[in-house]
Amino acid sequence: MATLPYNGLTLDRGRRTDTEWLATAERRVLAFWRDRCLTADGRPVALAETTRETIFLGADGTGVFAADLSSLDEPAALREAGADSAVDIRVLYPGLDPQEAATLAYARGMLHWARNQRFCGACGGRTEAEQAGHVRRCRGCDKLHFPRVEPAVIMLVESPDRARCLLARHRGAPEGAYSTLAGFLEIGECLEDAVRRELREEAGVLVREVGYQASQAWPFPSGLMVGFRALAATDEVTVDQDELVEARWFTPVEVRALGEGRRDSIESFLVETWLREVA
Ligand SMILES: [Zn+2]
Repeated sequence: MATLPYNGLTLDRGRRTDTEWLATAERRVLAFWRDRCLTADGRPVALAETTRETIFLGADGTGVFAADLSSLDEPAALREAGADSAVDIRVLYPGLDPQEAATLAYARGMLHWARNQRFCGACGGRTEAEQAGHVRRCRGCDKLHFPRVEPAVIMLVESPDRARCLLARHRGAPEGAYSTLAGFLEIGECLEDAVRRELREEAGVLVREVGYQASQAWPFPSGLMVGFRALAATDEVTVDQDELVEARWFTPVEVRALGEGRRDSIESFLVETWLREVA
């Protein structure tokens, strides 16, 4: 199976506790501003040095770090990084090689976490970075804060005869934009339970089988997308109008006619895998 976008990062993350190496390693610092990658001439900037606090991402010969310039306004951030634009990684994605895309996505996720974990949720005290930015310790109560990953399930649902799949138009999505269903895992729920609940709640679809397909790193800002295939028990679909405008069964011909969705999402993988099987 081909590696999904943002998966398969080969940076050696283990060196984060090797303080001696971290202090002397040649550095490459990726610069971000409010979740956007700072670029010059369409390429992500990589600084040799910065006075900003950095997060160590990993080693690939040099040490790769990320720095957050979000405290500045946009022109000042661009100036400091020698950049000309601040661009969303998913917009840059088509021009990135797989390792670069995974590195930038990881950087974005870690910086987002650090920026939103400056204060302790238990006592409100200020937190400080440790372990090259991978832990934040509260100065008030000493509590350690670690980056959290928020899993979500995404599922390709087959009709009982396996000849069609369920796609939905989400509230706010443009006319004709259909996608697979997805939802966040809740506390006290396993992944398969979340698939069954989301389908029941959003589309009124009951499923017989739920099987794991693949997962995808999705640090926008801290997700993990866990992809499933589900087999519906009946053809019945009853849409919850809060979340969805419409949900219905599509034949392979109808799915192909919709064109390709976002190429960097596991959704493409789930849909294309199914299309190959039913072809
Ligand atoms: Zn605290």
